[in-house]
Amino acid sequence: METRAERRGDDYVINGVKHFISHADVADFVILFAVTGEEKTPRGPRKQITSFLIDMGTPGFAVKKGYQVVSHRGYHNYILEFDECRVSSANVLGEEHRGFDVANQWLSSTRLSVAANCVGRGYRALELCQGWAATRKQFGQPIGKFQGVSFKLADMATQLQAAELLTLKAAWKLDEGLARDEDFAMAKLYASEMLAMLTDNAVQIFGAMGLAAENPIERMWRDARVERIWDGTSEIQRHIISRALLRPYEQ
Ligand SMILES: Cc1cc2nc3c(=O)[nH]c(=O)nc-3n(C[C@H](O)[C@H](O)[C@H](O)COP(=O)(O)OP(=O)(O)OC[C@H]3O[C@@H](n4cnc5c(N)ncnc54)[C@H](O)[C@@H]3O)c2cc1C
Repeated sequence: METRAERRGDDYVINGVKHFISHADVADFVILFAVTGEEKTPRGPRKQITSFLIDMGTPGFAVKKGYQVVSHRGYHNYILEFDECRVSSANVLGEEHRGFDVANQWLSSTRLSVAANCVGRGYRALELCQGWAATRKQFGQPIGKFQGVSFKLADMATQLQAAELLTLKAAWKLDEGLARDEDFAMAKLYASEMLAMLTDNAVQIFGAMGLAAENPIERMWRDARVERIWDGTSEIQRHIISRALLRPYEQ
């Protein structure tokens, strides 16, 4: 994290840039995480992060157009620039240097909503594939009669249900106050990787029509790509899961 908030009297002065911030054009305020210090730990120095609530229009804070990405083309991202942006200590969310505590309150539930989105879109894509496999004829029969197609459908349906159950289990644990970070990480990891496999198979089952912009499969395939990246990449989810597995054995 490069954006810094330097304490000056009762104020903080913020300098830095944030990329890929969704819907900043319509937001009234942003929640910003910035470096406010550094602490020593047995594993070396670690940045201390503070969370701020900053209103749009605050002097020194500008919003610029972001990047055009392949997934979710109706979903716009922006670049936030902070140049000597002064805010009061009343803008701190939670406590100074405890920004991750604030983020952790919602990171888990946004991961769960990514997982749920992947499951929902997976069901829609599977349904479209079932209809296509049952009606598209080649070599005198519906393509769903060929094992190369039908086994794909079987794998898609099986992995989809597995992802749904992992998602429901994490949601149930959240409701019961039993959830751990690794529950959300497993649901997000598996559901987003499942959707990648499922939509890729869907394109294959549809053949050329799977790549046509007129067909929703093409969009589902593109949109699936970002799910393995935002809200923590698949690699970060694997870190969370593996750390939890090894923690009890740490000496
Ligand atoms: C369309 C879109 C909208 C977004 N909206 C928002 C938003 O509103 N707010 C917001 O805060 N963010 C938003 N993001 C950012 C998103 O959360 C990040 O892109 C994501 O967390 C990954 O960070 P990065 O892009 O910096 O990748 P990096 O962290 O640079 O990672 C690059 C690669 O290195 C790997 N890697 C990095 N660290 C490790 C590690 N420790 N171990 C193993 N592998 C590692 C990653 O897994 C990845 O494969 C958005 C992104 C997109 C694409």
